[in-house]
Amino acid sequence: MTAVRVPGAPIISDGRLVSTSPATGAEVGRLPVAAGDDITRAVARAREAAGWWAGLGFTGRRQRLLRWRGVLARRIEELAELMHAEGGKPVPDAIVEVLTAIEHIDWAARNAGRVLRPRRVRSRLILAEFTGHLEYQPYGVVGVIGPWNYPVFTPVGSAAYALAAGNTVVLKPSEYTPVVGQWLVDSLAEVVPEQPVLTAVHGLGDVGAALCRSGVDKLAFTGSTATAKKVMAACAETLTPVLLEAGGKDAMIVDSDADLDAAAEACVWGGLTNAGQTCIGIERVYAVEPVFDAFVGKVVERAGRLTVGADGADIGPITMPGQLDVIRRHIDDALARGGRAVLGGADAVQPPYVRPTILVDVPEDSLAVREETFGPTLTINRVRDAEEAVTRANALPYGLGGSVFGRRRAVAIARRLRSGMAAVNSTLTFAGMSTLPFGGVGESGFGRIHGEDGLREFGRPKAVTRRRARSLLPAMTFERTPADVARLVKVTKLLYGRRR
Ligand code: NDP
Repeated sequence: MTAVRVPGAPIISDGRLVSTSPATGAEVGRLPVAAGDDITRAVARAREAAGWWAGLGFTGRRQRLLRWRGVLARRIEELAELMHAEGGKPVPDAIVEVLTAIEHIDWAARNAGRVLRPRRVRSRLILAEFTGHLEYQPYGVVGVIGPWNYPVFTPVGSAAYALAAGNTVVLKPSEYTPVVGQWLVDSLAEVVPEQPVLTAVHGLGDVGAALCRSGVDKLAFTGSTATAKKVMAACAETLTPVLLEAGGKDAMIVDSDADLDAAAEACVWGGLTNAGQTCIGIERVYAVEPVFDAFVGKVVERAGRLTVGADGADIGPITMPGQLDVIRRHIDDALARGGRAVLGGADAVQPPYVRPTILVDVPEDSLAVREETFGPTLTINRVRDAEEAVTRANALPYGLGGSVFGRRRAVAIARRLRSGMAAVNSTLTFAGMSTLPFGGVGESGFGRIHGEDGLREFGRPKAVTRRRARSLLPAMTFERTPADVARLVKVTKLLYGRRR
Protein backbone atom coordinates (compact mmCIF):
# COMPACT_ATOMS: atom_id res chain seq x y z
CA MET A 1 0.00 0.00 0.00
CA THR A 2 1.37 3.47 -0.87
CA ALA A 3 1.65 6.09 1.83
CA VAL A 4 -0.76 8.56 0.14
CA ARG A 5 -2.80 9.99 2.99
CA VAL A 6 -6.50 9.76 2.21
CA PRO A 7 -8.31 10.52 5.48
CA GLY A 8 -9.63 7.27 6.91
CA ALA A 9 -7.75 4.99 4.53
CA PRO A 10 -5.53 2.60 6.47
CA ILE A 11 -1.79 2.72 5.85
CA ILE A 12 0.88 0.18 6.64
CA SER A 13 4.08 1.80 7.85
CA ASP A 14 7.07 -0.09 9.31
CA GLY A 15 4.98 -3.23 9.82
CA ARG A 16 2.25 -1.31 11.62
CA LEU A 17 -1.32 -0.68 10.58
CA VAL A 18 -1.95 3.05 10.99
CA SER A 19 -5.60 3.91 11.57
CA THR A 20 -6.84 7.42 10.79
CA SER A 21 -10.03 9.45 11.15
CA PRO A 22 -12.11 9.62 7.96
CA ALA A 23 -13.11 13.18 8.90
CA THR A 24 -9.73 14.72 9.65
CA GLY A 25 -7.07 12.18 8.71
CA ALA A 26 -5.69 12.40 12.26
CA GLU A 27 -3.96 9.24 13.44
CA VAL A 28 -6.03 7.28 15.93
CA GLY A 29 -3.56 4.50 16.65
CA ARG A 30 -1.16 1.99 15.14
CA LEU A 31 -0.99 -1.73 15.67
CA PRO A 32 1.43 -4.44 14.59
CA VAL A 33 0.43 -6.22 11.38
CA ALA A 34 0.23 -10.00 11.78
CA ALA A 35 2.89 -11.54 9.57
CA GLY A 36 4.52 -14.91 9.04
CA ASP A 37 3.53 -17.32 11.81
CA ASP A 38 1.79 -14.68 13.94
CA ILE A 39 -1.67 -15.97 13.08
CA THR A 40 -0.96 -19.66 13.69
CA ARG A 41 0.77 -18.68 16.95
CA ALA A 42 -2.28 -16.64 18.02
CA VAL A 43 -4.53 -19.62 17.26
CA ALA A 44 -2.19 -21.96 19.16
CA ARG A 45 -2.27 -19.67 22.22
CA ALA A 46 -6.06 -19.45 21.96
CA ARG A 47 -6.20 -23.25 21.80
CA GLU A 48 -4.24 -23.56 25.04
CA ALA A 49 -6.52 -21.00 26.65
CA ALA A 50 -9.59 -22.86 25.37
CA GLY A 51 -9.02 -25.81 27.73
CA TRP A 52 -8.87 -23.49 30.74
CA TRP A 53 -11.83 -21.42 29.60
CA ALA A 54 -14.02 -24.47 28.89
CA GLY A 55 -12.99 -25.88 32.29
CA LEU A 56 -14.42 -22.84 34.08
CA GLY A 57 -17.88 -24.08 33.19
CA PHE A 58 -20.90 -21.92 32.53
CA THR A 59 -20.84 -20.32 35.98
CA GLY A 60 -17.17 -19.31 35.85
CA ARG A 61 -17.51 -17.88 32.36
CA ARG A 62 -20.72 -16.09 33.25
CA GLN A 63 -19.02 -14.29 36.16
CA ARG A 64 -16.14 -13.16 33.96
CA LEU A 65 -18.28 -12.11 30.99
CA LEU A 66 -20.53 -10.10 33.29
CA ARG A 67 -17.43 -8.33 34.58
CA TRP A 68 -16.49 -7.53 30.97
CA ARG A 69 -20.00 -6.20 30.42
CA GLY A 70 -19.43 -3.97 33.47
CA VAL A 71 -16.21 -2.55 32.02
CA LEU A 72 -17.98 -1.65 28.77
CA ALA A 73 -20.86 -0.05 30.64
CA ARG A 74 -18.61 2.00 32.92
CA ARG A 75 -16.40 3.15 30.04
CA ILE A 76 -19.14 3.56 27.45
CA GLU A 77 -18.31 7.24 26.74
CA GLU A 78 -14.61 6.47 26.25
CA LEU A 79 -15.36 3.66 23.80
CA ALA A 80 -17.94 5.77 21.93
CA GLU A 81 -15.43 8.61 21.54
CA LEU A 82 -12.88 6.16 20.15
CA MET A 83 -15.44 4.79 17.67
CA HIS A 84 -16.21 8.36 16.64
CA ALA A 85 -12.54 9.19 16.19
CA GLU A 86 -11.71 6.07 14.20
CA GLY A 87 -14.84 5.48 12.10
CA GLY A 88 -16.47 8.92 12.12
CA LYS A 89 -19.66 7.60 13.71
CA PRO A 90 -21.59 10.25 15.66
CA VAL A 91 -21.07 9.71 19.40
CA PRO A 92 -24.80 9.17 20.20
CA ASP A 93 -24.95 6.41 17.53
CA ALA A 94 -21.81 4.88 19.03
CA ILE A 95 -23.40 4.94 22.51
CA VAL A 96 -26.45 3.07 21.18
CA GLU A 97 -24.17 0.53 19.48
CA VAL A 98 -22.18 -0.15 22.66
CA LEU A 99 -25.37 -0.43 24.71
CA THR A 100 -26.64 -3.05 22.27
CA ALA A 101 -23.38 -4.98 22.53
CA ILE A 102 -23.53 -4.82 26.34
CA GLU A 103 -27.04 -6.27 26.28
CA HIS A 104 -25.83 -9.17 24.13
CA ILE A 105 -22.89 -9.94 26.43
CA ASP A 106 -25.27 -9.90 29.39
CA TRP A 107 -27.82 -12.20 27.79
CA ALA A 108 -25.29 -14.63 26.35
CA ALA A 109 -23.49 -14.89 29.72
CA ARG A 110 -26.70 -15.45 31.65
CA ASN A 111 -28.33 -17.92 29.26
CA ALA A 112 -25.50 -20.08 27.90
CA GLY A 113 -25.87 -22.64 30.69
CA ARG A 114 -29.62 -22.97 30.26
CA VAL A 115 -29.41 -23.41 26.48
CA LEU A 116 -26.26 -25.50 26.08
CA ARG A 117 -25.80 -27.57 29.23
CA PRO A 118 -26.03 -31.38 29.23
CA ARG A 119 -29.59 -32.63 29.45
CA ARG A 120 -31.55 -35.85 29.24
CA VAL A 121 -33.65 -36.31 26.15
CA ARG A 122 -36.73 -38.54 26.15
CA SER A 123 -36.80 -41.46 23.79
CA ARG A 124 -39.97 -42.75 22.12
CA LEU A 125 -41.55 -46.16 21.84
CA ILE A 126 -38.86 -47.17 19.38
CA LEU A 127 -35.65 -47.49 21.40
CA ALA A 128 -37.69 -47.01 24.58
CA GLU A 129 -35.05 -49.03 26.42
CA PHE A 130 -32.53 -46.19 25.90
CA THR A 131 -32.19 -42.72 27.33
CA GLY A 132 -30.80 -39.87 25.29
CA HIS A 133 -28.25 -37.30 26.39
CA LEU A 134 -27.61 -34.03 24.58
CA GLU A 135 -25.11 -31.27 25.16
CA TYR A 136 -23.45 -28.51 23.15
CA GLN A 137 -19.70 -28.74 23.47
CA PRO A 138 -17.44 -25.82 22.54
CA TYR A 139 -15.67 -26.03 19.19
CA GLY A 140 -12.39 -24.84 20.68
CA VAL A 141 -11.09 -21.75 18.87
CA VAL A 142 -13.47 -19.57 16.87
CA GLY A 143 -12.11 -17.08 14.34
CA VAL A 144 -14.17 -13.91 14.11
CA ILE A 145 -13.76 -11.56 11.14
CA GLY A 146 -15.54 -8.24 11.48
CA PRO A 147 -16.46 -5.20 9.38
CA TRP A 148 -15.86 -1.53 10.17
CA ASN A 149 -19.41 -0.19 10.14
CA TYR A 150 -20.39 -1.58 13.57
CA PRO A 151 -16.95 -2.30 15.03
CA VAL A 152 -18.31 -3.18 18.50
CA PHE A 153 -21.77 -4.64 17.84
CA THR A 154 -20.70 -7.04 15.08
CA PRO A 155 -17.61 -8.68 16.65
CA VAL A 156 -19.31 -8.83 20.06
CA GLY A 157 -22.40 -10.41 18.48
CA SER A 158 -20.25 -13.38 17.54
CA ALA A 159 -17.50 -13.26 20.18
CA ALA A 160 -19.71 -12.92 23.28
CA TYR A 161 -21.84 -15.88 22.22
CA ALA A 162 -18.78 -17.94 21.24
CA LEU A 163 -17.09 -17.17 24.57
CA ALA A 164 -20.22 -17.88 26.60
CA ALA A 165 -20.44 -21.25 24.83
CA GLY A 166 -16.91 -22.08 26.05
CA ASN A 167 -14.76 -21.22 23.02
CA THR A 168 -11.85 -18.83 22.84
CA VAL A 169 -11.77 -16.28 20.03
CA VAL A 170 -9.20 -14.85 17.63
CA LEU A 171 -10.59 -11.65 16.14
CA LYS A 172 -9.57 -10.01 12.88
CA PRO A 173 -11.07 -6.52 13.04
CA SER A 174 -11.54 -4.50 9.86
CA GLU A 175 -8.46 -2.61 8.71
CA TYR A 176 -10.59 0.55 9.09
CA THR A 177 -11.31 0.00 12.79
CA PRO A 178 -8.45 -2.00 14.34
CA VAL A 179 -8.05 0.30 17.35
CA VAL A 180 -11.62 -0.28 18.48
CA GLY A 181 -11.08 -4.04 17.97
CA GLN A 182 -7.97 -3.94 20.14
CA TRP A 183 -9.86 -1.94 22.79
CA LEU A 184 -12.36 -4.79 23.06
CA VAL A 185 -9.54 -7.32 23.46
CA ASP A 186 -7.75 -5.24 26.09
CA SER A 187 -10.91 -4.58 28.07
CA LEU A 188 -11.66 -8.30 28.36
CA ALA A 189 -8.03 -9.00 29.32
CA GLU A 190 -8.45 -6.56 32.24
CA VAL A 191 -11.04 -8.81 33.85
CA VAL A 192 -9.72 -12.14 32.52
CA PRO A 193 -5.95 -11.68 32.92
CA GLU A 194 -5.20 -15.40 33.32
CA GLN A 195 -5.39 -16.53 29.68
CA PRO A 196 -5.82 -14.88 26.24
CA VAL A 197 -9.42 -15.92 25.65
CA LEU A 198 -9.97 -13.09 23.15
CA THR A 199 -7.04 -11.94 21.00
CA ALA A 200 -6.76 -9.89 17.84
CA VAL A 201 -4.69 -10.23 14.69
CA HIS A 202 -4.41 -7.05 12.65
CA GLY A 203 -3.84 -6.31 9.00
CA LEU A 204 -5.55 -6.18 5.63
CA GLY A 205 -7.74 -8.75 3.92
CA ASP A 206 -4.88 -11.23 3.58
CA VAL A 207 -4.80 -11.56 7.38
CA GLY A 208 -8.49 -12.49 7.34
CA ALA A 209 -7.80 -15.02 4.58
CA ALA A 210 -4.94 -16.50 6.62
CA LEU A 211 -7.19 -16.76 9.69
CA CYS A 212 -9.62 -18.87 7.62
CA ARG A 213 -6.75 -21.28 6.91
CA SER A 214 -5.17 -21.19 10.36
CA GLY A 215 -6.83 -24.26 11.83
CA VAL A 216 -9.59 -22.45 13.75
CA ASP A 217 -12.46 -24.78 14.59
CA LYS A 218 -15.16 -22.44 13.31
CA LEU A 219 -15.14 -19.14 11.45
CA ALA A 220 -17.73 -16.43 12.08
CA PHE A 221 -17.61 -13.82 9.33
CA THR A 222 -19.43 -10.50 9.10
CA GLY A 223 -18.85 -8.37 6.02
CA SER A 224 -19.75 -8.08 2.37
CA THR A 225 -21.25 -10.86 0.28
CA ALA A 226 -18.25 -10.85 -2.07
CA THR A 227 -15.82 -11.49 0.79
CA ALA A 228 -18.20 -14.01 2.40
CA LYS A 229 -17.87 -16.16 -0.73
CA LYS A 230 -14.06 -16.04 -0.51
CA VAL A 231 -14.21 -16.92 3.19
CA MET A 232 -16.47 -19.88 2.50
CA ALA A 233 -14.19 -21.09 -0.30
CA ALA A 234 -11.13 -20.85 1.97
CA CYS A 235 -12.89 -22.65 4.81
CA ALA A 236 -14.08 -25.36 2.40
CA GLU A 237 -10.46 -26.48 1.97
CA THR A 238 -10.45 -27.85 5.52
CA LEU A 239 -14.23 -28.24 6.01
CA THR A 240 -14.04 -25.55 8.67
CA PRO A 241 -17.64 -24.66 9.54
CA VAL A 242 -18.63 -21.10 8.73
CA LEU A 243 -21.22 -18.60 9.84
CA LEU A 244 -21.74 -15.88 7.27
CA GLU A 245 -23.37 -12.54 8.10
CA ALA A 246 -23.19 -10.77 4.76
CA GLY A 247 -24.62 -7.75 2.97
CA GLY A 248 -28.19 -6.63 2.53
CA LYS A 249 -30.54 -4.33 0.64
CA ASP A 250 -33.35 -4.14 3.13
CA ALA A 251 -36.77 -2.88 2.13
CA MET A 252 -39.46 -1.06 4.07
CA ILE A 253 -43.11 -1.41 3.11
CA VAL A 254 -45.59 1.34 3.98
CA ASP A 255 -49.16 0.08 3.82
CA SER A 256 -52.30 2.19 3.44
CA ASP A 257 -53.21 2.04 7.15
CA ALA A 258 -49.73 2.99 8.41
CA ASP A 259 -49.09 5.79 10.89
CA LEU A 260 -47.24 7.96 8.39
CA ASP A 261 -45.43 10.13 10.94
CA ALA A 262 -44.07 7.08 12.74
CA ALA A 263 -43.19 5.45 9.41
CA ALA A 264 -41.33 8.55 8.18
CA GLU A 265 -39.42 8.91 11.46
CA ALA A 266 -38.37 5.24 11.40
CA CYS A 267 -37.56 5.35 7.70
CA VAL A 268 -35.18 8.30 8.13
CA TRP A 269 -33.54 6.66 11.11
CA GLY A 270 -33.35 3.20 9.54
CA GLY A 271 -31.99 4.53 6.26
CA LEU A 272 -29.67 7.31 7.34
CA THR A 273 -28.32 6.36 10.76
CA ASN A 274 -24.56 5.83 10.70
CA ALA A 275 -24.61 7.71 7.36
CA GLY A 276 -26.50 4.75 5.88
CA GLN A 277 -23.60 2.39 6.49
CA THR A 278 -25.72 -0.29 8.13
CA CYS A 279 -26.09 -3.87 6.94
CA ILE A 280 -29.72 -3.90 8.09
CA GLY A 281 -30.25 -0.29 7.07
CA ILE A 282 -33.33 0.55 5.03
CA GLU A 283 -32.20 1.21 1.46
CA ARG A 284 -35.47 0.79 -0.50
CA VAL A 285 -38.97 1.84 0.44
CA TYR A 286 -42.21 0.74 -1.20
CA ALA A 287 -45.18 2.92 -0.25
CA VAL A 288 -48.67 2.18 -1.50
CA GLU A 289 -50.17 4.73 -3.91
CA PRO A 290 -52.80 6.32 -1.60
CA VAL A 291 -50.21 7.34 1.02
CA PHE A 292 -47.16 7.77 -1.23
CA ASP A 293 -47.11 11.57 -1.59
CA ALA A 294 -47.88 12.30 2.05
CA PHE A 295 -45.27 9.79 3.21
CA VAL A 296 -42.55 11.16 0.91
CA GLY A 297 -43.30 14.69 2.13
CA LYS A 298 -42.84 13.65 5.75
CA VAL A 299 -39.59 11.79 4.99
CA VAL A 300 -38.13 14.76 3.08
CA GLU A 301 -39.10 17.16 5.85
CA ARG A 302 -37.35 15.04 8.50
CA ALA A 303 -34.30 14.08 6.44
CA GLY A 304 -33.84 17.71 5.40
CA ARG A 305 -33.43 18.71 9.04
CA LEU A 306 -30.47 16.38 9.64
CA THR A 307 -27.06 17.96 10.08
CA VAL A 308 -23.96 16.65 8.33
CA GLY A 309 -20.42 17.10 9.61
CA ALA A 310 -17.63 15.93 11.87
CA ASP A 311 -18.60 16.68 15.46
CA GLY A 312 -22.06 16.84 16.93
CA ALA A 313 -23.80 16.27 13.58
CA ASP A 314 -26.48 13.66 12.86
CA ILE A 315 -24.58 12.28 9.89
CA GLY A 316 -20.83 11.80 9.96
CA PRO A 317 -18.31 11.09 7.23
CA ILE A 318 -18.29 8.02 5.01
CA THR A 319 -15.86 5.73 6.78
CA MET A 320 -14.37 3.99 3.76
CA PRO A 321 -13.22 6.63 1.23
CA GLY A 322 -13.73 4.24 -1.71
CA GLN A 323 -17.45 4.00 -0.90
CA LEU A 324 -17.99 7.62 -1.96
CA ASP A 325 -17.63 6.62 -5.63
CA VAL A 326 -20.18 3.82 -5.20
CA ILE A 327 -22.71 6.21 -3.65
CA ARG A 328 -22.15 8.80 -6.38
CA ARG A 329 -22.54 6.15 -9.08
CA HIS A 330 -25.82 4.90 -7.58
CA ILE A 331 -27.29 8.41 -7.39
CA ASP A 332 -26.18 9.29 -10.94
CA ASP A 333 -27.52 6.03 -12.33
CA ALA A 334 -30.90 6.49 -10.62
CA LEU A 335 -31.24 10.02 -12.03
CA ALA A 336 -30.07 8.98 -15.50
CA ARG A 337 -32.76 6.28 -15.60
CA GLY A 338 -35.56 8.70 -14.78
CA GLY A 339 -35.60 8.71 -10.98
CA ARG A 340 -36.07 12.09 -9.25
CA ALA A 341 -34.19 13.49 -6.28
CA VAL A 342 -36.64 15.14 -3.88
CA LEU A 343 -33.79 15.83 -1.46
CA GLY A 344 -30.04 15.91 -2.15
CA GLY A 345 -29.10 14.44 -5.49
CA ALA A 346 -26.29 14.77 -7.99
CA ASP A 347 -24.12 17.06 -5.85
CA ALA A 348 -24.82 15.29 -2.54
CA VAL A 349 -21.39 13.63 -2.42
CA GLN A 350 -18.93 16.10 -0.91
CA PRO A 351 -16.03 14.02 0.42
CA PRO A 352 -15.83 12.80 3.07
CA TYR A 353 -19.54 13.54 3.51
CA VAL A 354 -22.74 12.70 1.67
CA ARG A 355 -25.82 14.85 2.19
CA PRO A 356 -29.10 12.97 2.73
CA THR A 357 -30.57 12.01 -0.60
CA ILE A 358 -34.12 10.82 -1.21
CA LEU A 359 -34.79 9.41 -4.68
CA VAL A 360 -38.32 8.63 -5.88
CA ASP A 361 -39.79 6.68 -8.78
CA VAL A 362 -36.47 4.95 -9.36
CA PRO A 363 -36.60 2.10 -11.92
CA GLU A 364 -36.29 -1.28 -10.25
CA ASP A 365 -33.29 -2.23 -12.38
CA SER A 366 -31.25 0.77 -11.12
CA LEU A 367 -28.10 0.24 -9.09
CA ALA A 368 -29.67 2.21 -6.22
CA VAL A 369 -32.46 -0.37 -6.01
CA ARG A 370 -30.48 -3.54 -6.68
CA GLU A 371 -27.06 -3.09 -5.03
CA GLU A 372 -25.91 -2.13 -1.55
CA THR A 373 -25.37 1.67 -1.62
CA PHE A 374 -24.12 2.06 1.97
CA GLY A 375 -24.70 5.79 2.07
CA PRO A 376 -27.35 8.18 3.50
CA THR A 377 -29.64 7.63 0.54
CA LEU A 378 -33.09 6.09 0.13
CA THR A 379 -35.16 5.13 -2.86
CA ILE A 380 -38.93 5.43 -2.38
CA ASN A 381 -41.09 3.83 -5.03
CA ARG A 382 -44.87 3.76 -5.33
CA VAL A 383 -46.71 0.46 -5.51
CA ARG A 384 -50.35 -0.41 -6.20
CA ASP A 385 -50.79 -2.39 -3.00
CA ALA A 386 -48.99 -4.38 -0.33
CA GLU A 387 -48.94 -7.44 -2.58
CA GLU A 388 -46.85 -5.64 -5.19
CA ALA A 389 -44.63 -4.26 -2.41
CA VAL A 390 -43.85 -7.78 -1.16
CA THR A 391 -43.08 -9.00 -4.68
CA ARG A 392 -40.65 -6.12 -5.27
CA ALA A 393 -39.08 -6.38 -1.82
CA ASN A 394 -38.44 -10.08 -2.40
CA ALA A 395 -37.02 -9.66 -5.90
CA LEU A 396 -33.35 -9.40 -4.89
CA PRO A 397 -30.90 -12.17 -3.99
CA TYR A 398 -30.25 -10.49 -0.62
CA GLY A 399 -32.47 -11.27 2.36
CA LEU A 400 -31.21 -9.80 5.62
CA GLY A 401 -33.87 -7.70 7.40
CA GLY A 402 -36.80 -5.50 6.53
CA SER A 403 -39.57 -3.35 7.96
CA VAL A 404 -43.32 -3.03 7.55
CA PHE A 405 -45.51 -0.14 8.64
CA GLY A 406 -49.23 -0.71 8.86
CA ARG A 407 -51.93 -2.09 11.13
CA ARG A 408 -54.18 -4.88 9.88
CA ARG A 409 -51.83 -6.77 7.55
CA ALA A 410 -48.42 -5.69 8.85
CA VAL A 411 -47.40 -8.87 10.67
CA ALA A 412 -48.61 -11.07 7.82
CA ILE A 413 -46.58 -8.99 5.36
CA ALA A 414 -43.50 -9.14 7.61
CA ARG A 415 -43.74 -12.94 7.68
CA ARG A 416 -43.80 -13.04 3.89
CA LEU A 417 -40.63 -11.00 3.44
CA ARG A 418 -37.83 -13.25 2.22
CA SER A 419 -35.45 -12.25 5.00
CA GLY A 420 -34.03 -13.52 8.25
CA MET A 421 -35.57 -10.68 10.26
CA ALA A 422 -38.28 -8.04 10.03
CA ALA A 423 -39.51 -5.18 12.21
CA VAL A 424 -43.17 -4.17 12.33
CA ASN A 425 -43.75 -0.46 12.96
CA SER A 426 -40.06 0.13 13.66
CA THR A 427 -36.72 -0.41 11.96
CA LEU A 428 -33.57 -2.32 12.99
CA THR A 429 -35.02 -3.21 16.41
CA PHE A 430 -34.49 -6.97 16.02
CA ALA A 431 -30.72 -6.33 16.24
CA GLY A 432 -31.02 -5.18 19.84
CA MET A 433 -33.33 -7.93 21.07
CA SER A 434 -30.90 -10.45 22.48
CA THR A 435 -33.56 -13.14 22.69
CA LEU A 436 -34.04 -13.20 18.89
CA PRO A 437 -31.70 -14.78 16.34
CA PHE A 438 -29.93 -12.48 13.87
CA GLY A 439 -28.93 -13.47 10.34
CA GLY A 440 -29.98 -13.58 6.74
CA VAL A 441 -31.01 -15.78 3.84
CA GLY A 442 -29.75 -16.02 0.26
CA GLU A 443 -26.83 -13.71 -0.51
CA SER A 444 -27.10 -12.22 2.98
CA GLY A 445 -25.56 -15.39 4.36
CA PHE A 446 -26.55 -18.16 6.74
CA GLY A 447 -26.21 -19.19 10.34
CA ARG A 448 -27.38 -17.10 13.26
CA ILE A 449 -25.88 -14.96 15.99
CA HIS A 450 -27.86 -13.76 19.06
CA GLY A 451 -30.51 -15.59 21.04
CA GLU A 452 -30.66 -19.31 21.67
CA ASP A 453 -29.83 -20.12 18.04
CA GLY A 454 -26.81 -17.82 18.33
CA LEU A 455 -25.54 -19.75 21.34
CA ARG A 456 -26.11 -23.11 19.65
CA GLU A 457 -24.18 -21.81 16.62
CA PHE A 458 -21.04 -21.92 18.77
CA GLY A 459 -21.53 -25.39 20.27
CA ARG A 460 -21.25 -28.78 18.61
CA PRO A 461 -24.30 -30.83 19.48
CA LYS A 462 -23.13 -34.03 21.12
CA ALA A 463 -25.62 -36.87 21.24
CA VAL A 464 -25.20 -39.91 23.52
CA THR A 465 -27.55 -42.86 23.92
CA ARG A 466 -27.44 -45.03 27.01
CA ARG A 467 -29.02 -48.45 27.44
CA ARG A 468 -31.15 -48.78 30.53
CA ALA A 469 -32.88 -52.11 29.87
CA ARG A 470 -32.75 -55.18 27.68
CA SER A 471 -34.36 -54.78 24.24
CA LEU A 472 -37.75 -56.42 23.95
CA LEU A 473 -37.61 -56.00 20.19
CA PRO A 474 -33.95 -56.53 19.23
CA ALA A 475 -33.27 -54.70 15.97
CA MET A 476 -29.70 -53.51 15.88
CA THR A 477 -27.94 -56.81 16.41
CA PHE A 478 -27.00 -59.88 14.39
CA GLU A 479 -28.54 -61.91 17.22
CA ARG A 480 -32.08 -61.01 16.17
CA THR A 481 -34.17 -63.93 15.03
CA PRO A 482 -36.61 -64.17 12.10
CA ALA A 483 -39.38 -64.02 14.71
CA ASP A 484 -37.94 -60.72 16.03
CA VAL A 485 -37.91 -59.28 12.49
CA ALA A 486 -41.51 -60.40 11.95
CA ARG A 487 -42.48 -58.65 15.18
CA LEU A 488 -40.64 -55.51 14.01
CA VAL A 489 -42.70 -55.52 10.79
CA LYS A 490 -45.89 -55.91 12.81
CA VAL A 491 -45.00 -53.06 15.19
CA THR A 492 -43.95 -50.82 12.30
CA LYS A 493 -47.31 -51.30 10.59
CA LEU A 494 -49.16 -50.78 13.84
CA LEU A 495 -47.33 -47.59 14.76
CA TYR A 496 -46.83 -45.95 11.39
CA GLY A 497 -48.97 -47.76 8.85
CA ARG A 498 -52.24 -45.87 9.34
CA ARG A 499 -53.45 -44.04 6.26
CA ARG A 500 -54.21 -40.86 8.21
P1 NDP B 1 -15.59 -6.60 3.74
O1 NDP B 1 -16.21 -7.85 3.23
O2 NDP B 1 -14.80 -5.77 2.81
O3 NDP B 1 -14.62 -6.93 4.98
C1 NDP B 1 -15.08 -7.64 6.11
C2 NDP B 1 -13.89 -8.23 6.84
O4 NDP B 1 -13.31 -9.26 6.03
C3 NDP B 1 -12.77 -7.23 7.10
O5 NDP B 1 -12.18 -7.49 8.35
C4 NDP B 1 -11.82 -7.51 5.97
O6 NDP B 1 -10.51 -7.11 6.23
C5 NDP B 1 -11.92 -9.02 5.89
N1 NDP B 1 -11.46 -9.59 4.61
C6 NDP B 1 -11.23 -8.96 3.44
N2 NDP B 1 -10.84 -9.86 2.49
C7 NDP B 1 -10.83 -11.06 3.10
C8 NDP B 1 -10.55 -12.39 2.64
N3 NDP B 1 -10.20 -12.65 1.37
N4 NDP B 1 -10.65 -13.40 3.52
C9 NDP B 1 -11.03 -13.16 4.80
N5 NDP B 1 -11.32 -11.93 5.29
C10 NDP B 1 -11.22 -10.89 4.45
O7 NDP B 1 -16.79 -5.77 4.40
P2 NDP B 1 -16.73 -4.32 5.05
O8 NDP B 1 -15.71 -4.29 6.14
O9 NDP B 1 -16.61 -3.31 3.96
O10 NDP B 1 -18.16 -4.21 5.75
C11 NDP B 1 -19.30 -3.79 5.08
C12 NDP B 1 -20.12 -4.98 4.65
O11 NDP B 1 -20.46 -5.75 5.79
C13 NDP B 1 -21.45 -4.59 4.03
O12 NDP B 1 -21.69 -5.41 2.92
C14 NDP B 1 -22.46 -4.88 5.14
O13 NDP B 1 -23.75 -5.14 4.68
C15 NDP B 1 -21.83 -6.07 5.77
N6 NDP B 1 -22.32 -6.24 7.14
C16 NDP B 1 -23.13 -7.30 7.42
C17 NDP B 1 -23.67 -7.43 8.68
C18 NDP B 1 -24.54 -8.59 9.02
O14 NDP B 1 -24.74 -8.83 10.20
N7 NDP B 1 -25.09 -9.32 8.08
C19 NDP B 1 -23.39 -6.46 9.75
C20 NDP B 1 -22.50 -5.41 9.34
C21 NDP B 1 -21.99 -5.32 8.08
P3 NDP B 1 -10.03 -5.67 5.75
O15 NDP B 1 -10.98 -4.67 6.34
O16 NDP B 1 -8.69 -5.59 6.32
O17 NDP B 1 -10.10 -5.71 4.24
